Amino acid sequence: MTDYQGLYEFSPRLLELAEKAEQNCREIFRQTEEIQAYNEAKVLKAFSDNRVSAAHLVGTTGYGYDDAGRDNLDRVFAQAFGAEDALVRHQFVSGTHTLSTALFGVLRTGDTVVSVTGAPYDTMEEVIGIRGGKTGSLAEFGVHYRQIELLPDGTPNFAAIEEAAKSAKMIYIQRSRGYSLRPSLRVETIGEIAAAAKRGNPDVIVFVDNCYGEFVEKREPTEVGADLMAGSLIKNPGGGIAPTGGYIAGREDLVELCGYRATCPGIGRESGCTQDQNRGLYLGFFHAPSAVANAVKTSCFACALFAELGCRTTPRFDEPRTDIIAAIELGSPERLCAFCRGIQAGSPVDSFVTPEPWAMPGYSDEVIMAAGAFTMGASLELSADGPLREPYSVWVQGGLTYNTGKLGILLAAQAMEGC
Ligand SMILES: *Cc1c(COP(=O)(O)O)cnc(C)c1O
Repeated sequence: MTDYQGLYEFSPRLLELAEKAEQNCREIFRQTEEIQAYNEAKVLKAFSDNRVSAAHLVGTTGYGYDDAGRDNLDRVFAQAFGAEDALVRHQFVSGTHTLSTALFGVLRTGDTVVSVTGAPYDTMEEVIGIRGGKTGSLAEFGVHYRQIELLPDGTPNFAAIEEAAKSAKMIYIQRSRGYSLRPSLRVETIGEIAAAAKRGNPDVIVFVDNCYGEFVEKREPTEVGADLMAGSLIKNPGGGIAPTGGYIAGREDLVELCGYRATCPGIGRESGCTQDQNRGLYLGFFHAPSAVANAVKTSCFACALFAELGCRTTPRFDEPRTDIIAAIELGSPERLCAFCRGIQAGSPVDSFVTPEPWAMPGYSDEVIMAAGAFTMGASLELSADGPLREPYSVWVQGGLTYNTGKLGILLAAQAMEGC
């Protein structure tokens, strides 16, 4: 049992349960470390095959034409993700912005996009135009949207997907659960969805919201039939080091189109200076498989511990992972808020502040968030959030190092004692 003597005071009972939880995680930890080793090799190989050099780590100013570091980082990401091409830019302000750029880059008036994993992530509803006012959504530009729900057991409705693809330009897949209690999709399953969609329509574009998924498995969606995917650099592929940004990866012709949307028609990806961002983006990507594995282990530990405490968790602690998120059903607003206070107290930055629920723009219920991160809002760093609605689930993610992540989880459990 870890000795925190003189540092942190935990009850003997909590430490005993933590010991048991960690024992239960032995096998899943072993699997996670095996995936980590493979993905670290994948990334190292992408660096060396693309001859990354010190010159690539310095950036440009102004227009940023011929920014060798930027262009090579695109190749490194593409290779590591088994994609033809990639667009990695610190100018993407968030995951939503990156996903939005990809959708607007590829879709045109009259096209239909079909989400085949039910409702998309909350903020994407306004991009698509399911919700929100006249803000320039896809719907306002005449892009049609339809949705196919997952089956009651959480699996995709392959027959409906094949049928819908016939009249669709794009099939939209969300890998991670987001703020829902549905299971996250395995990369293998994403491959099966892509195959079903292409049976219905060989030209359909299979798009994946890959947020929170990168490096959790050995393969990425672009290695199993997805045409395009996107994600945030303040989540997995930034390795806890990239201070901002996003990436789009996939088919060369589609990535090219996204470049025109990211800047403007005609100029596309050729412009966009990197200032002093290149080094952090390279370093972050290099660290990403390791940071992701630590986050996965923190997540497994959290699920194992809270299962011991009688909570339902999605996924179960020993289920194979495809993203870094775990949802824990806490059952009351008091317990949800206490949990978040504990996570906050276990953060390296702002450990002394008290998180409160607030009406966050883009979300339909009040949300409470705990995060004390080096990068504001970065959720590869230990963080927890949840909307104040039944069943008062908290979504926990991150942990740049397992030992500090575990401490945050222990403090959360301790804060809930007596609630
Ligand atoms: C985080 C996330 C996004 C985008 O969120 P941002 O906060 O804009 O970075 C989109 N989809 C999923 C599934 C996510 O987890």
